[in-house]
Amino acid sequence: MKIAVAKEVEVGERRVALVPETVARLVKQGLEVLVEAGAGEQSFFYDAAYEAAGARIVTDPDSLWREADILLKVEVPQERVDLLREGAVIVGFLNPLGQPDLAQRLAERRVTAFSIEMIPRTSRAQSMDALSSQASVAGYKAVLIAAATLPKYFPMLTTAAGTIAPAKVFVMGAGVAGLQAIATARRLGAVVEAFDIRPAVKEEVQSLGAKFVEVQLQEETVAAGGYAKEVSEAAKQRTQEVVAEHVKQADVVITTAQVPGKRAPLLVTEEMVAQMKPGSVIVDLAAEQGGNCACTEAGKDVQWNGVTIIGPINLPSSMPVHASQLYAKNLTTFVQYLVKDNAVQLNFEDDIISAACITHAGEIRNQRVRDALATLNTQQSAVS
Ligand code: NAD
Repeated sequence: MKIAVAKEVEVGERRVALVPETVARLVKQGLEVLVEAGAGEQSFFYDAAYEAAGARIVTDPDSLWREADILLKVEVPQERVDLLREGAVIVGFLNPLGQPDLAQRLAERRVTAFSIEMIPRTSRAQSMDALSSQASVAGYKAVLIAAATLPKYFPMLTTAAGTIAPAKVFVMGAGVAGLQAIATARRLGAVVEAFDIRPAVKEEVQSLGAKFVEVQLQEETVAAGGYAKEVSEAAKQRTQEVVAEHVKQADVVITTAQVPGKRAPLLVTEEMVAQMKPGSVIVDLAAEQGGNCACTEAGKDVQWNGVTIIGPINLPSSMPVHASQLYAKNLTTFVQYLVKDNAVQLNFEDDIISAACITHAGEIRNQRVRDALATLNTQQSAVS
């Protein structure tokens, strides 16, 4: 069984799907590992280290894609999919709800595709949960970016020249990224407040030493799987009324709120930004999903009445060593779960396999992906 690691080709993507340590684990299990030459270079894992771990370095990318029984990637470029042989397996961030046409292409190619973002968020699947491992990197880095941009100290300082008050950080969305942002801001000495529409996170927020901002909503805010639901207009209005004052007081706002498969909720309006102190900073981790702040532009730093709004793209890739190490561990655990006795075991009774497998034997297996594809096709035929 050949496990192949292809080089990432998207602009700005510096991560790699396996690191040498995880290659060694798979080789020890009796699997053959092929690594495209230079695949780990951007994350400082060099070919020699992969070879020492037992991998075979392949210089021709096309032959690597053709040879693979299981191809591991971070991002999956549509144009390479046709190189995979029928019946091959691919595992990566396939973004099947945002990019259902990729799923369609994989199905047409009769590839068995596992979308790592569809792994259930359960305790049993925790070690395969790449959304969490990468979100945690993003939450940490968002705070460092904010601290480096803020024209102030984060911690309280008592000096001979007077006392410096600590920075006030407001984190909106206390999922994996938000909780790591809270922890990082606290480590840097800031006073931290946080808000989320899922009331269950209150205790986690408080255990990290932050204050939880409560908004009483008259509706259910949690969907199946523990994710947030898209809330009503009335709830959005109520939320904005409550959070406006906290945004106004903050030196730094970190926004992380997302609802799977939807545009990110708008939490910080232009009016709220206009109320903030000059020099304040917003880092919007939902920039690529439309942004939580009305002023966000993905991939840009925007100045708005003296407030800097930063909309970073692919923050995990900016820390490629640890982001790759964690991602590689997630993928390796998944491969070890999938492969038994040197063969892929497709047990669709298993909740992890069933949820993550989006295409198999020429079919798109997931109803939400089929719905997303139907919507895309309708939009495209309306345009043409
Ligand atoms: P996410 O990235 O989908 O969203 C980030 C946060 O934004 C979430 O906490 C969400 O509640 C919040 N949010 C959404 N809409 C909002 C709004 N209008 N206002 C304020 N906040 C809003 O979330 P995530 O970090 O991927 O976590 C998703 C779920 O999975 C959570 O319930 C989390 O606890 C759970 N989870 C479970 C495990 C596990 O059990 N192994 C691991 C990781 C995450």
